[in-house]
Order: sequence, then C-alpha cells, then structure tokens
Amino acid sequence: MEEGLKVTFLGTGTSQGIPVIGSTHPVCLSDDVRDKRLRVSVLLQWGEYHFVIDCGPDFRQQMLTHEVTRLDGILFTHEHSDHTAGLDDIRPFFFRQGDIPIYAPKRVVKSLKRRFDYIFQEKDRYPGAPSVAINYVEKGKDFEVGDRTVTPIQVMHNRLKVFGYKIGGFTYLTDVKSVEEEEFKKILGTKVLVVNALRIEPHHSHFNLEEALSFVEKVKPQKTYFTHISHLLGFHGEVEKSLPKNVHLAYDNLVIEL
Ligand SMILES: [Zn+2]
Repeated sequence: MEEGLKVTFLGTGTSQGIPVIGSTHPVCLSDDVRDKRLRVSVLLQWGEYHFVIDCGPDFRQQMLTHEVTRLDGILFTHEHSDHTAGLDDIRPFFFRQGDIPIYAPKRVVKSLKRRFDYIFQEKDRYPGAPSVAINYVEKGKDFEVGDRTVTPIQVMHNRLKVFGYKIGGFTYLTDVKSVEEEEFKKILGTKVLVVNALRIEPHHSHFNLEEALSFVEKVKPQKTYFTHISHLLGFHGEVEKSLPKNVHLAYDNLVIEL
C-alpha cells in the first residue's frame, strides 16, 4: 500500500441527509454532532492532490468546511442525485483551474449531460458555466488519478450497476446491495474498507446493518467504516457500541490516514 493517503468523510448520510427535513424522529432531533449527516462523499488527499468521490447536494458546504482550494477530479459512483446534484458548484475550482476532470462510466456521463446540459454544451456557452474533462470508467480497467492507480469495482445497487473504487489498500463502496464474485476478488487484501450500511431493516438496494457486517466478515479488512447511513440505523453512539472490534460507523468530518 502506498503511504500517505488521507481520507476525510465529507458526508455519511443517506439521500435525504440527517436530520430529514421536518422529521421528529429521535435520531433527527439528536444533539450528538455525529448524528448530523450530509450526503455521502469522501475527500482523498495525498501530496498535493485532492480528489472527491461523488459530488452531492452538500458539495459546496463540504468544500467550505474543509477549506478545499484545489480539486484535481471527481470520481462518480453513479448518477443518483445524492451523488451528483452538487456538480454546478465546481465553478470556483473551474474558474481557477480550468476544466475539472471527472471519472465516470458512459451511462453516468450521459445522465450528467442531460441534467447539467450547460456544463457540457460546446457552442454558445453561457460565460459563467463550468466545464469538465471527461474520463470514462470501465469495468476491469484500472486508471490513473494523479500519480496513483485506481481499480474500479462494479457492484449492484439493486439492478443498477454502480462503481466503487480501490486505491492502494483503501476501498470505498457505497450504494451496494450485492457484489459478483469476479469483482469481489478485487477487494480482497483491502486494509481499510468503507461500505454502506443503511439501516436495521432490509432494503431493496442497500446493505442493511446485518448484510454489511457479513460482507465485512468475507472481506476481512483491518478496519471498516460504515457510511450512507439513514436515521433508521439508530443513534450513532448506540450503534457504534454494538459493532465488532475494528468496525466503526463513519461520521461527518472524520479523518483517517493510511
Ligand atoms: Zn446514494
């Protein structure tokens, strides 16, 4: 494993975030800061490089909180809004740096082109519109970001193909319900695993807590952090206490170093 990878959890919440607007659920009313979860994303830093995985609706706030002044690229897992809706807010980075590299499979780029047509428009561009440099991600094809190699891991979010990413000993998998054997093999040897654990009850497109724990048993990483958490998982403090050694709930602004 390459040294010096710093991972900051920018958001660890499911699609609505926690608290959910208007909710009176006890977890949504919790005073524990670890129960406040923005939409899911991580910042990866090494040397001078800064990459994010996904760019959800809380992207702007996340960049301000962590005083990120340079962005070398965005790796997208899939096109759902909680992972993409903040794309317009790359503007300050674009104004300083020029086209911002994005890494995504064809289907996701197609969806981004539809939803952010002005970003991809070639003629008569609006002067303030940001622009991106597209890098296509394909199953089975490693790619370089900065001076490091990324292995895409294709996982299933119910019937939707989603990419997770492995960089050295770090693997990030969100919005997973199942993983085919061929792709699973690529995860083995991971030292730090981040994977989704949505809630206690089963869900059609996400691991619940029990499924996430049995996935950890199979991968056997040194350390695991659960993310993409719903208020229905329970209070951070209580769930954290119930987990096996070396398995933790991630929380917003948690920083880990590999
Ligand atoms: Zn999601």
